Amino acid sequence: MTSSVCTRFAPSPTGDLHIGGVRTAIFAWLTARHHGGKFFIRLEDTDQERYMPGSARRILETFDWLGIQLDGGPDHASLRQMKTDEDYAGALADGSYKGISGPFVQSQRLPLYQQWAEWLVEHGCAYRANETPEELERMRAAVIERKEVWNFREEMRLRTDIDPAQPHVIRMRVIPRDGITQLHDLVKGDVAFENANTDDAVLLKADGYPTYHLANVVDDHLQEVTHVIRGDDWLSSAPKHILLYRYFGWELPQFAHVPNVLGEDGRKLSKRHGATSVFEFRDQGYLHEAVINFLAMLGWAPGEGDEQNVFTADELIEKFSEEHIGSSPAVFSYSKLDWLNGVHIRRLPPAELAERLLPFVEQAGLKFDTPEAQARFRQAIPLIQERIKTLRDAAGLIDFIFTDIETPAKQALIGQKMDQAASLAALRETKALLEQLPVFDEAPMEQAMRTLAERLHLKAGQLFTIVRNAVTGKSVTPPLFGTISVMGRETALQRLERAIRVLSE
Ligand code: GLU
Repeated sequence: MTSSVCTRFAPSPTGDLHIGGVRTAIFAWLTARHHGGKFFIRLEDTDQERYMPGSARRILETFDWLGIQLDGGPDHASLRQMKTDEDYAGALADGSYKGISGPFVQSQRLPLYQQWAEWLVEHGCAYRANETPEELERMRAAVIERKEVWNFREEMRLRTDIDPAQPHVIRMRVIPRDGITQLHDLVKGDVAFENANTDDAVLLKADGYPTYHLANVVDDHLQEVTHVIRGDDWLSSAPKHILLYRYFGWELPQFAHVPNVLGEDGRKLSKRHGATSVFEFRDQGYLHEAVINFLAMLGWAPGEGDEQNVFTADELIEKFSEEHIGSSPAVFSYSKLDWLNGVHIRRLPPAELAERLLPFVEQAGLKFDTPEAQARFRQAIPLIQERIKTLRDAAGLIDFIFTDIETPAKQALIGQKMDQAASLAALRETKALLEQLPVFDEAPMEQAMRTLAERLHLKAGQLFTIVRNAVTGKSVTPPLFGTISVMGRETALQRLERAIRVLSE
């Protein structure tokens, strides 16, 4: 074992990553980075039937988007060798990284598993079996009839008539049959498993592919993984893995089986609760900073007395400790994610926020295709930075600045406790004021408008409300004078003129 920490995330490429899996990956990544170690991705595609074309690429894209750098993972050549030849532009360039031994795709490591499975057979820790499914079913039924646990298949273990040249599987031999196998888990504590409940699982299938148990142990050892951090649905497989490490004489890694992520109703987080894939969150306008912050805190907290909730990735790396991962299921709160997203949005430099918003506002139909248009868009950022929870919220707050509005109906242009004539006069005065305002900026505009209200014996609110309706077509907007300033003099005057015409009728 190396002295340096090494962790991995080992998804099966069977579809988009579930946010709960990504949370596990973030724990593994933070563990590695906190200790100055390495983090890599290994694709566990030994179940070729469940393989989903395109998912390898999307897994890598997920980490790219999150801004998580890999010290190892599928490279271009590996991706091209996959069943559907799926390359990804951002894949690592070539197959061996920072000393971790590739390839990082299990279907490209078959000879290793075959070699170690044979080793186990030679050393009496595994055996060949070739029962047909019907035979297995008959044996299972007989065991159940005897009210025994269907685990140890004495008949199978004792067979000597299997020709290694004929199709067969290799099963592990659970030794000893009695007693317990102990696990010290970083999250679950000490867990004891009765060997009587551990079955002689298949390690190598007849088609030469390994099962998860063998492949995972062989790879974690050869790739020098120090901390196996995975979902706790794998806890019941741990005794098999511990036995395999023992048979091979390999040092055990540390295990951390992390609890599930639940919805607020206490059920496993699923589509019923809302978005569950990282790409959905990305497309809904969540920042990767917020997603990482939020996921890291799903089952981890910095420790007693430390109330910090908002973290940058660097702060998480500094504070994270695998020993503080909680042992009870974490509850996914969409409202907490919204809140954190708002906080991280406010922390972005405005120019950076503008960059990130552009694709969202363009998708909502706003066009900023000239440098001038983009400059105006950047001016609008301070109007919304404090007000949006997701990048998607922006367009609805500022669209009226950049696209034409419907001229409001007369009713909306008549101020509170004012009649039509007074309202008309007020809008005319406003128009004259805006025409002449030397600097078309928020502060001088607000000041001049307040003076105007006084002169007209109006409350500021009375005047501002009708002006707002006239120039924005809305009753609720970001701060009025900042908005008018971004809109520009020409547009503001045109809209006022149209409102004046309505009131003159
Ligand atoms: N391929 C397994 C999965 O999809 C990996 C579990 C592990 O991390 O060992 O969850």
